[in-house]
This record gives sequence, structure tokens and C-alpha cells, in this order.
Amino acid sequence: MATSMIQRLFTQGTKIVGVGRNYAAHAKELGNAVPKEPVLFLKPTSSYLENGGTIKIPHPLESLHHEVELAVVIGEKARDVPEAMAMDYIGGYAVALDMTAREIQASAKASGLPWTLAKGQDTFTPISSVLPTAMVPDPNNLELWLKVDDEMKQKGSTKDMIFKIPFLISYISSVMTLFEGDVILTGTPEGVGPVKVGQKVTAGITGFSEVHFDVGRRPHPFN
Ligand code: MG
Repeated sequence: MATSMIQRLFTQGTKIVGVGRNYAAHAKELGNAVPKEPVLFLKPTSSYLENGGTIKIPHPLESLHHEVELAVVIGEKARDVPEAMAMDYIGGYAVALDMTAREIQASAKASGLPWTLAKGQDTFTPISSVLPTAMVPDPNNLELWLKVDDEMKQKGSTKDMIFKIPFLISYISSVMTLFEGDVILTGTPEGVGPVKVGQKVTAGITGFSEVHFDVGRRPHPFN
């Protein structure tokens, strides 16, 4: 999957599979236990936002939380893939933000309700162009970083993932078929926090990729 093929994520990908609490330090900062099995949730592909776009905070929220993550782009149909074969099913990598309405998520968690409203809204998955696998020899040792305005907020390494990429592909493909253009968001390192209207978010994979987003407001659609 070539770098220019980001559009295929939007048009051909069928889903974004989020992995929660995949870095111990992040699980801890939100008061969650480190999981024994991956915590999975789905985001719709309508939540994608291309580099340079504006993250929109829906009325009446004042902020969203940033979560910088390595996105694994699936390159071919994958079902019940053994861990030893899993890397063959990857088409590329990207840096993505799993934007989260933390207040909504907190009340959903307290009530045992799904995270759809907290994670699934339009512009909640800003993403870079796709890096071909040949450019990324060691995806398990990448530095992810994120700045709000000019302040570094998150910096972590994919080597600290609790569940590694081959295991995630194997595990997820045992639950649901993954198709070309589907994306796995592999979890965020520590340092998550709010972004507000007027701020700028910059994020990247050191040495590979850098993306920029503005933060704006989505007014109430019906008044
Ligand atoms: Mg996340």
C-alpha cells in the first residue's frame, strides 16, 4: 500500500479497531488496571481526518483528550491469522490520534455503556499518510510524540506496548475478519490530556512522519 493510498483507508477500509490500555503507564494514569486480554472498541471510518484538517469539538464540550497512537494498516484479508504469520498481513503504518471525549467516556464507563459517543464522532481519528512496511523495519521500536501548541505532552515507545502487533492481529482476526484498508489503533502511551478550541496539535513518529491539526468547534447542528 503506497503512501498516496491514504484515501483507501477512507473508501475501502471497513473499520478502525481501537485497543485500549495497551501501555501500562497510560492505564495507570487513568486509574485502570493493566488488562489480561486486549480491550477492544470500534471507531467508524467516518471519524478520519487528514493531515492539516481541523479537529472539531462538539457542542457543549470544552475539550477533547489527545491520544497519539501507532496505526497498523491491514494489507490483505485476515481471518484466524497465527501470530507467526501476522506481520505478512500488514500493508503499512501511520501515526493517528484517538481523540476522546473524556467526560463522556468517564460517564459511559461508570454506567457500563459503550464508548461510541466518546470515540466515534467525525474528526475524532486524525491520521497521517501511510508508510509502506518496507520503510519501517522495526515497528516495535518507534518513538511516538505529540505536542499541544509547542509543548511536548506525550513521548513514548511502541516497545512498551503490553500486547505487541503480531499478537493484536492474531487476536483481533480471531474475533472479526480484517480487510485491506482496516486500521488497528494500537493504544497510547502516557501523557494524555485536553486540547481546546484554538490550539494546535502536532504529532509524529520520530524520523518517519509528522502531522498538524487545528482544533475548532462543532456548533450544535440543530439550533
Ligand atoms: Mg486510544
